[in-house]
Amino acid sequence: MNPPGDRLEAMLGWLRHAGCRITPQRLEILKVLAVSEGHPSAETIHQRVAAHFPTMSLATVYKTLAVLKTAGQVLELEFSDRDNRYDGNRPEPHPHCICQGCGAILDPDLTSLDALASLAARQTGFHIQSLRLDFYGLCPACQARRAAASGNKPA
Ligand code: ZN
Ligand code: MN
Repeated sequence: MNPPGDRLEAMLGWLRHAGCRITPQRLEILKVLAVSEGHPSAETIHQRVAAHFPTMSLATVYKTLAVLKTAGQVLELEFSDRDNRYDGNRPEPHPHCICQGCGAILDPDLTSLDALASLAARQTGFHIQSLRLDFYGLCPACQARRAAASGNKPA
């Protein structure tokens, strides 16, 4: 995880560069994105910010995300069957563990990823520029819930 303060400064810089006015609402959106706890959806970001700024619109969240995406300052995880999710803490492409029970998304720290990318490049002749790697399964909390529901102790 990147220090959230560093990410906040970087995103602020890019928004200013793009000519966006830094309103208190926008700053709050950036704060949520700088931590990106659980990889929030636009809807979730809106809910968290609206707790402090009830008048803020969802459109403002989408506009801010669009600017940051263009600048490569937020990573968008697109899904066909659920809301897109965002990572402003680690904007560079990286693998994710995605829970099929509750939708939790975590960042595993994989050291062998560079080797895997080189292998893919060697085998195909591709010049690799980006990646999308998702591991699907059940998070610990969902495993425990499932075990409890079936009367067993969690593994
Ligand atoms: Zn889960
Ligand atoms: Mn991530």
